[in-house]
Amino acid sequence: MAEADLLDLDLDGLTALVAELGQPTFRARQVWRQIWQRGTLDPQEMSDLPRALREQLAERIAPPPAATATQTSEDGSTTKALLPLADGEMVETVLIRHDPHAQAGSRVSPTARRTVCLSTQAGCAMGCTFCATGAQGFRRQLSVGEVLVQALLARSWARAEGGELTHVVFMGMGEPLANYEVVSAALERLSDADGFGLSPRRITVSTVGLPAQMRCLADDHPQVNLAVSLHAAEASLRRELVPVPPATPAEIVAAAREHSERTGRRVTFEYVLLAGVNDSRAQARALADRIAGIRCQVNLIPFNPSADVVGRRPSRRATLGFQQALVERGVAANVRVEKGRDIAAACGQLRGDRVRRDG
Ligand code: SAH
Ligand code: SF4
Repeated sequence: MAEADLLDLDLDGLTALVAELGQPTFRARQVWRQIWQRGTLDPQEMSDLPRALREQLAERIAPPPAATATQTSEDGSTTKALLPLADGEMVETVLIRHDPHAQAGSRVSPTARRTVCLSTQAGCAMGCTFCATGAQGFRRQLSVGEVLVQALLARSWARAEGGELTHVVFMGMGEPLANYEVVSAALERLSDADGFGLSPRRITVSTVGLPAQMRCLADDHPQVNLAVSLHAAEASLRRELVPVPPATPAEIVAAAREHSERTGRRVTFEYVLLAGVNDSRAQARALADRIAGIRCQVNLIPFNPSADVVGRRPSRRATLGFQQALVERGVAANVRVEKGRDIAAACGQLRGDRVRRDG
């Protein structure tokens, strides 16, 4: 067996590896807990294993990617890490701390909600005109281990502060449902009670709107939350803003409705507000009509500028006017409080910035 990436292995794979090393298979579960419960990534530090096994594992497995540049926003709420992968691709991971009881200037408390925003692809093929990741184009899919090491990393930061990682959102670089098998395996792993141990209700997958995969997600992971990035109620505007995926707003909304009916969960529609493009009150009313009757909420995200993307951030007045027009039509709508803009860690700003490649 070639060098294995420990984080890519599921429990069966780990059991096979341990057996191949001539060790009793119950050791596999010990290794599993070390990794996924305690976050020990170096086999030499797995203190409950016999030394021989620690050494065998250390020889056989590739070290997981380690974060290089790590930045924390001025207000302390957001930490972003750049993660160089084995082949030189780069992705970013963001930890967002949300402390409802924080006083201005005080430290984030251990009990704060801590959410990691995971990347699932290097780059993205969907071509959304306003998104820094989209501007790179698609580079490659991440493996399960490459997705999950981000969650382990963010959890280690949370624990170092005396806190815990409480939520996971798949809203980093890439389109999660275009890497469905990997994301599905990652969801499984995150909610494994004998492993990472996060409730699936605390996990959200954000998609640009791929109806077939949205249906699979409802079947395979009915407790996981779904967020659908719609951005336009009307087909031609949607095609301008999100040129690649073929589904129309009507088809995407139908799949979202089905998801909510089948899972009993409330769907979130995300809507990036671009000044003068999709932020008028008439467009808000069209959106409300489009999603009428679905158990849902709308998350309005004022456009975040970054290099290589076009768009203008709407005024506060236009944003609140859009929100009000939705609320008047009975749609629950909120304006996302963006964190980490000063370190380019907010929605749509992730681009793995050390990789200014030519090709
Ligand atoms: N590919 C998935 C998840 C990653 S993007 C998706 O599109 O849903 C996460 C969220 O950031 C999406 O809602 C996306 O529309 C939003 N986003 C992208 N670029 C943005 C920008 N420049 N400003 C604000 N939000 C942006
Ligand atoms: Fe891809 Fe999402 Fe960015 Fe669109 S918004 S390009 S789907 S990452």
